[in-house]
Amino acid sequence: MTVTPEQSSPQDPTATPTITDRFVAANREYAVTFRDGGMDARPVQQVAVVACMDARLDLFAALGLELGDAHIIRNAGGVVTDDTIRSLTISQRALGTRAVVLIHHTGCGLLGLTEDFRRELELEVGQRPQWAVESFVDLDSDVRQSMQRVRTSPFLPHTEDVRGFVFDVHTGLLREIH
Ligand SMILES: [Zn+2]
Repeated sequence: MTVTPEQSSPQDPTATPTITDRFVAANREYAVTFRDGGMDARPVQQVAVVACMDARLDLFAALGLELGDAHIIRNAGGVVTDDTIRSLTISQRALGTRAVVLIHHTGCGLLGLTEDFRRELELEVGQRPQWAVESFVDLDSDVRQSMQRVRTSPFLPHTEDVRGFVFDVHTGLLREIH
């Protein structure tokens, strides 16, 4: 069968590789030197980190984490939503973590967004999303609100060690929020 350009698949060597194709190639390289550390699913450092999905935030490097050390829960803003609580609950009750670290950052894409984003979305697609945008105007107060949501969750057995930070994307430094 003759393959026309329209039918070309990602496996077609003449096609321009997509980013996902590059991931697959990089993964083959990774697996060459990968060694199974023999860890189970419980994080070694018994900690869960909730952070923004921002592409400039390399949590392993910024926090000195090693593979297997921590649960990393990321979303837009690093906000504590019901789904974040779901992950933290499983992390603590099933997988033994006790500490929670929250990390927001300067220059966040959620800064300055408003709930208008939802209304505009509804006008465009004819359906209002179930979720809140969780936008914020003040980083420090949003970190405090996130810490409060963790500390007051009825589902979490360990809320004594909850700390929050703002990561500066220009200096790489964390600033603790009290
Ligand atoms: Zn962000």
